[in-house]
Amino acid sequence: MYQTFIKPLYLDVKTFVLDTLFPISCLACGEEGTWICADCKSTIGKLEHQRCIVCQKNTPFGLTHPHCQTPHGADGLISFLNYHDQKVADILIKGKYNFLPGIYEELGKLLAGQLKTQYPNILISNISLIPVPLHSTRKRWRGFNQAEVLCRSLSEQLNLPVADVLQRKKITKTQKDLKKDARLKNVDGAFALSPWALNHKSEVLNHPFILVDDVTTTGATLAEAAKVLKRNGAAKVICLTVARD
Ligand SMILES: [Zn+2]
Ligand SMILES: [Zn+2]
Repeated sequence: MYQTFIKPLYLDVKTFVLDTLFPISCLACGEEGTWICADCKSTIGKLEHQRCIVCQKNTPFGLTHPHCQTPHGADGLISFLNYHDQKVADILIKGKYNFLPGIYEELGKLLAGQLKTQYPNILISNISLIPVPLHSTRKRWRGFNQAEVLCRSLSEQLNLPVADVLQRKKITKTQKDLKKDARLKNVDGAFALSPWALNHKSEVLNHPFILVDDVTTTGATLAEAAKVLKRNGAAKVICLTVARD
């Protein structure tokens, strides 16, 4: 009784204070009431082609070309939005650096809708979602991992489980500012199985996964995380990002 009365009141006050201090408005055009307004959702820059995670050339459905595939390589990369579009960049940069996890819930819904209509074949029943992990110090600083928020939202929309099987061991520099060789070196050895997965290796062995992140440039970070999963026997790893740079 106590809780049912107090909780909604507390939430109302919290929502009121947050909405007054930081009113929700479209991160691309400023219209109040939603993180991405309907107008921006329809005009936002979408990618026309998917690229192979290995050679960066176009490939249907984002699947890694058969001649580019290696035993521990990712099987595909699917991205939806064009990071070079100003609206896309505004939404993702403001979401990350203004500490707005709500935007990733919204983007997760958008991604889920696109997957259902354009890529229903990858949504097989036993596939699990994995967020690309942040290093614990970076997550503490930001307060949330945007990839985890995306995964939670995708999980609700698509009814797929989220697997906590990866950890980030190394604090890496931002990939965006590095040249190709430096990017590969920067993420080399960055990931490992999580302590939980080390005790439950059968949860990785022969399982298919969708590895989720907000943005990718060359796919080096995703490929490195996919490698850890494949080395531990994952059956399939499809990478999925909101945007591609
Ligand atoms: Zn807008
Ligand atoms: Zn290729």
